Amino acid sequence: MKRELALGILIAAGTLAIATRAQQAPAPTAIEVEKLKENLFVLRGGGGNTAVFVQTDGVTVVDTKNPGWGQPLLTKIRELTNKPVTTIINTHTHFDHVSGNVDFPATVDIVTHENTAKNMELMRSPTGITPAPDAPKNIFKENGGKGMPKKTFKDKMKIGKGADEIDLFYFGRGHTSGDAWVVFPALRTMHAGDIFSGKNIPLLDAVNGGSGVEIGKTLAKAAKSIKGVDSIITGHSTVMTMADLTEYATFNDEFAAAVRDAKKAGKNVDAIASAWKLPAKYKGYADPLATPANTQRLKNNVQIVYDETK
Ligand SMILES: [Zn+2]
Repeated sequence: MKRELALGILIAAGTLAIATRAQQAPAPTAIEVEKLKENLFVLRGGGGNTAVFVQTDGVTVVDTKNPGWGQPLLTKIRELTNKPVTTIINTHTHFDHVSGNVDFPATVDIVTHENTAKNMELMRSPTGITPAPDAPKNIFKENGGKGMPKKTFKDKMKIGKGADEIDLFYFGRGHTSGDAWVVFPALRTMHAGDIFSGKNIPLLDAVNGGSGVEIGKTLAKAAKSIKGVDSIITGHSTVMTMADLTEYATFNDEFAAAVRDAKKAGKNVDAIASAWKLPAKYKGYADPLATPANTQRLKNNVQIVYDETK
């Protein structure tokens, strides 16, 4: 319980830690492995949660962590299987989910939503995040284009079949403009990326197409449309359920409605942000006022919804 609480605070504070160029490659021991199924693992540390799906003839990796973490990630995967990594799927454009791509062999297939592929060409700093001065400006350009997506999808894509099948879905804007939902149907599990990073005030990355008005609707569409899933790998938190996802959709919808109503009543962004309180019914949610970073995120999100509301 205590550990969960500490983890919650940590996640709330640093869902997107400031990127720094790794001076020295982090040790693979810094990556923690959670075995979800016989052939599905969550690898934590060094950025967003990575899913490792061991298939008949190879391995699919979902998200590849911060700059400098690709090699330690590969080393850790070697401890789990000796099958080659054949595919990378990036859930969205953020540096803590895509940067390790450049350390994988050039033969690996890389798949993203079409908007994420466009965002990855530019690698703009996310809303509210100030990159460290030594962070890569565009890690893919600096690596001669290595690590960029080779295949994209628009609404839906099926890769492989039977026990190996992966289904990719897109339900609209939220955290960014290109949040992919990655389903492993044979394992009744999916990776949601940062559109569901955990039970917290979401990072709405307006710079990369994110939307505070749409995120609740997109989450609800996903919760309704995706069938046969019991376990959700979140972007930065613990494994959650479909009921958690449905609740998170409502949480985000209610947030947008509260901002919209307050705007209609003539309140300004500062007044709306300082009046907003986490509704008591949302148990286990990170307190938006627990840290200055969270308070700032709350204000950013009020501003984003305010600007989107006509
Ligand atoms: Zn993100």
